[in-house]
Amino acid sequence: MFNCDLHCHSTCSDGLLGAADVAQRAAGNGVDLLALTDHDSLDGLAAARLAAAAAGMGLVNGVEISIEWQSLQIHILGYAFDSSDQGLNAGLESIRSGRVERARRMSAELEKVGIDGAFDGAMRYAANPCLISRAHFGRYLVEIGAARDLRSVFESYLVPGRPGYVEHRWATLADSLGWIDAAGGIAAVAHPGRYKLSRAEMRRFLGEFKDLGGRAVEVVSGSHTQEHVDIFARYAREYGFLASRGSDFHGPGESYFDLGQLAPLPDGLKPVWEAF
Ligand code: AMP
Ligand code: MN
Ligand code: MN
Ligand code: MN
Repeated sequence: MFNCDLHCHSTCSDGLLGAADVAQRAAGNGVDLLALTDHDSLDGLAAARLAAAAAGMGLVNGVEISIEWQSLQIHILGYAFDSSDQGLNAGLESIRSGRVERARRMSAELEKVGIDGAFDGAMRYAANPCLISRAHFGRYLVEIGAARDLRSVFESYLVPGRPGYVEHRWATLADSLGWIDAAGGIAAVAHPGRYKLSRAEMRRFLGEFKDLGGRAVEVVSGSHTQEHVDIFARYAREYGFLASRGSDFHGPGESYFDLGQLAPLPDGLKPVWEAF
């Protein structure tokens, strides 16, 4: 099997390893083609490209863009774009700029339930402060014993209706697809199984995504169950989407799936990498 892992993170966003280390680890795991997809940032791509070349592994430019749709936070992956594109870079900068202020509001919310120092605590985990994310807050909450592990953090904190969650303005679906398209890239819906959408809402979302130029969905994902894989394979066939495969690796000991160590795409789907 041609081993593609098209979703992972480095310290440029909320991963635990530097971009070059991510690429080296992927090559060591037998990955043939990697996309580094940091949240809202292209900072790691150059270092990942050098390390991938040194290891004889393919690398395609990637990014994971935070958007809101119907007040729900959704992630859109961009692949194989021109990383020097000004519109894409400016768009990503516009999303990043609100993160520090959001982190202060999250910290204030956590204080209300007796958790002090979360802003500074989370920042200690953020190698790239402007990409401060809920993952960094999660690590701090585990550190102080507020939760057993990252998964339980996101059951009790930082999600709608729980302490530490704040509303935030991200990009729109149309913004994200416009930026990716103008930079010559291909857009994919990240881990669609994770969104709390009814069947009707999912259909509406996928319809809008397709109408706005979206071409792919992540079918095999580190955050999907086998049931999700089957459901989104069916959607991909029905809507004519290309299919993607990605671990969403954030770091050793934190992610359930290591780089490249996922099931292959189900039969009968068109792999997105054939369009790169
Ligand atoms: P943010 O972009 O600040 O909203 O943070 C989102 C990040 O939090 C995701 O990219 C994941 O790294 C992490 N995250 C969200 N939900 C979960 C979860 N259920 N389990 C583990 N990590 C999660
Ligand atoms: Mn993340
Ligand atoms: Mn994501
Ligand atoms: Mn991700």
